[in-house]
Amino acid sequence: MLWTSGCSKAGESAVSAAEDGGPQSISVFAMDTYMQLTAYDGQKSAALSQAKDEVERLEKLWSVTDEGSEIYRLDHSGGEPAEISDETAELIAFGMELNELTGGAFDISLYPVLSEWGFTNGDYKIPSEERLSELLKNVDSSRIELSGNAAVLPDGMSIDLGALGKGETGDRITEIFRANGVSSALLDLGGNIQVIGSKPDGSPWKIGIKSPWGEGSVAKLEVRDCCVITSGGYERFFEGGDGEIYWHILDPKTGYPAKNGILSATVIGKSGRLCDGLSTSLFVLGEEGAKKLWRERGDFDMILITEDGRLIMTEGIAGEVSLYEEFSGLETEVMSRD
Ligand code: AMP
Ligand code: MG
Repeated sequence: MLWTSGCSKAGESAVSAAEDGGPQSISVFAMDTYMQLTAYDGQKSAALSQAKDEVERLEKLWSVTDEGSEIYRLDHSGGEPAEISDETAELIAFGMELNELTGGAFDISLYPVLSEWGFTNGDYKIPSEERLSELLKNVDSSRIELSGNAAVLPDGMSIDLGALGKGETGDRITEIFRANGVSSALLDLGGNIQVIGSKPDGSPWKIGIKSPWGEGSVAKLEVRDCCVITSGGYERFFEGGDGEIYWHILDPKTGYPAKNGILSATVIGKSGRLCDGLSTSLFVLGEEGAKKLWRERGDFDMILITEDGRLIMTEGIAGEVSLYEEFSGLETEVMSRD
């Protein structure tokens, strides 16, 4: 059977000319990141201002620190039912599905553990084993009860949709842009890239896959109509007093940073929310787990950069990836389904 991630690849034709007046961009700081949205055609001003409103609305809904947000209310509900909107319920349900799919590697209820490490406010420290095991007792998103617009978190559990929110937001912006006739756009949501169509000249968008070892990009990926979402340990980390590097993606089984041989996991596919959730998941699962998940599903492609210096990519996008000169010595591996 031929699987496809649903992305249009370079070489397919879906060309749209830029409207007179050139591209229009906005920058928005939201969800703890700088977002840069650029529309090349269609009703650009309307698309951008509606997108900004939507980003701000979603941030208000899902912020963990804003006392008026639905997530804040839920996190402080003390085990009582809390009312949430359809869209929040849907995103929590999606997080729970991913938890099941990944055998617990992805878990939206890790928030108290992330907070203990200081990843939520930059006040970093290495928690004690005792403290971690105490906090891990309340980590298990499969225990969340969802029923229509009512959600019940077990007392002591807190959730955060940070590993999914930007991807979901990118999907919403894509819808808004399309509704405004935009057929060529680049959305950069803090390194999460979502593109609409192709570049105004008809050529594919060229997306850099960042080097986990420092500045610059390891490879270039050419895509159209696609999400390219990366999770990497290099995005947020600190060096402990013991000289070790501790990063922000944790293994829910241990409460420690996930060190399973992967330095960055990029997921390429049609749905931002799925790619966002999966990139975090693959990073935790490690090479074997990620490969297994890819074989089981047909809805994404991936690029993994491993600790031992290999770049693993799936057959659906391998033809669109080229290494930059500086990294031409990297060992590459193409995964196929047979
Ligand atoms: P991303 O940049 O999408 O990979 O999301 C990383 C963020 O997800 C972190 O900053 C944490 O807030 C959260 N996170 C860390 N580990 C996990 C995990 N195992 N499952 C779900 N979310 C996580
Ligand atoms: Mg993610």
